[in-house]
Amino acid sequence: MPQRIRILDKSVCEKIAAGEVVQNPASVVKELVENSIDAGATRIEVEIERGGKELIKVSDNGEGIEREDVGKAFLRHATSKLADEKDLARIGTLGFRGEALAAISAVSVINLTTRTRQSIEGTLYAIERDREVKCEETGCAPGTCIEVRDLFYNTPARLEYLKSASQEASAVHDIVARLALARLDISFKLISGGRTLINTPGNRNLEDTIASVYGRNTLEDLFPVKCHDDGVAITGLVSKPHGSRSNRTYQSFFINGRFVRSRVIAKALEDAYRTLIMVNRYPMAVLYFKLDTEAVDVNVHPAKLEVKFREEERIRRAVYSCVRTALEKGRWIVRAPAKTPAVFSKPEKTSESPALQKNDQRVQKPRVVEETVEYNRIEMDNNIEGGSSKIPPMKVVGQFLSTFILAEGQDCVYIIDQHAAHERIMYEQLTGHLREGKMASQALLEPVVVDVSPIEMEAVRENLSLLSAIGYIIDEFGAGSLLVRAVPVFFGVPQSKEFLNEVISGLIRQGNKDSQGLKQDDIIRMACKKAVKANQRLSPSEMDNLIQELMKTDMPFTCPHGRPVFVTLTRYQLEKMFKRIV
Ligand code: ADP
Ligand code: MG
Repeated sequence: MPQRIRILDKSVCEKIAAGEVVQNPASVVKELVENSIDAGATRIEVEIERGGKELIKVSDNGEGIEREDVGKAFLRHATSKLADEKDLARIGTLGFRGEALAAISAVSVINLTTRTRQSIEGTLYAIERDREVKCEETGCAPGTCIEVRDLFYNTPARLEYLKSASQEASAVHDIVARLALARLDISFKLISGGRTLINTPGNRNLEDTIASVYGRNTLEDLFPVKCHDDGVAITGLVSKPHGSRSNRTYQSFFINGRFVRSRVIAKALEDAYRTLIMVNRYPMAVLYFKLDTEAVDVNVHPAKLEVKFREEERIRRAVYSCVRTALEKGRWIVRAPAKTPAVFSKPEKTSESPALQKNDQRVQKPRVVEETVEYNRIEMDNNIEGGSSKIPPMKVVGQFLSTFILAEGQDCVYIIDQHAAHERIMYEQLTGHLREGKMASQALLEPVVVDVSPIEMEAVRENLSLLSAIGYIIDEFGAGSLLVRAVPVFFGVPQSKEFLNEVISGLIRQGNKDSQGLKQDDIIRMACKKAVKANQRLSPSEMDNLIQELMKTDMPFTCPHGRPVFVTLTRYQLEKMFKRIV
């Protein structure tokens, strides 16, 4: 039985985060779909034309609205989900403000049909710019179907602000994707310009839903995480180090079933991938959080997209340790292209990306791109139960191009980038020394004067403790100069003046956004870059040594910049390439 709709008291309204709910088609879709979810629907279909600028249609099989209540639903602060202030502290539904339908109907033309399961007749209701134009009986299936046409037709300024149809459609895709991932038990369909872009099974299966939303290929780049830490339960899938993306669109966080954007979570997630992925790459993640409703406030953002954690630090720590621990347990060895090169055989077509799913004959060009991607795909081994050392046993057989070490493993050959390997070793050793306060420093017999600009001086002043932690003793010396009394010693080599310049520009580049830890990391990475051997002939014992040292590291699979240290070719791949097996 649907709850009756009532108008909220003024006192409750004043406690609700106010602001614009409707900025673009995607925000309309979000509000309408959330209403369908709140109405207990198990099937929700979204249809848009011209990115939603012309038409947004959302149909559901939810509980419907009683005829006498339909008009009320479009009034401000009319809701069936909240009775009084007390309810605000424990919101269980997605909506609770009673503002969305009012806001949408003020800037569009709406047609709604709805029927509750208890009534034999449905209601057809039309409202145009806040004015009811129709309310009559109609025959329809139980549930609600709402059509929003000509969004912002009466507010030209906002109409102007909308992006192109394809950009708006992609924003709608993103939001429906997130809503579908939030509710694996509901079947979602998104149709844009007659093409089905999303069609989830609603079978509670995360993998199936991701496959429907982002394409089945995406699953190969992901692995599961699960943990319960300090009152925070986290489950979901995150990317393997080499499954990273060029932006954050593929990061979705759900708190108690609600999709939220959260800088705290994104930052903690990205910190967990530190030194495992390259700069300007972002891990993909679909993470579900279970928290006490008291531990999170959803009433801080008009579209409820942002939340406030009562204890941010607890969330941050939980995310970081959950993901980092899983990453550290994995065996992330890059497998050389699984398919034989295109000259030998053409890669077969793989499942299509979501944007070009289903019978669309027009899109031909991206096929070529897909083949290239398939051929270059990097595959990872993820053996979470891996042995005591992360690296499988191997025997060095030689060096190639003075740059790569070739080693023989069980049923495979490893190709190791000696530079990347050495960088990883040095990075972890320096980090270890720094953590234990064992960083070596050398006092200069003659202090050196280094001239700096005012900005550089500022950066030095702000980071004195960090600089001293890595081994510098620096004083200010007049207006634009520093007096350097001691310098760090990395692997027995006292660092030059140039290195200090590099460190200072690094500090400026980073600004004060990031934590000390991150800056420290960067300085260590700079140090590694300088000290590491590259393009160098190595003796067999030097190579053995390098592998032995690499075995001792925590994360041997990437250099500190996130590039791979190993690539492997398996017996199977070789036999396939040589046509020993078919
Ligand atoms: P809120 O979701 O915050 O309550 P809305 O303006 O989004 O406010 O919706 C107002 C009311 O209209 C809801 O409380 C609900 O009772 C009713 N309603 C809206 N959409 C649906 C739907 N798809 N199915 C059933 N009831 C709905
Ligand atoms: Mg709502």
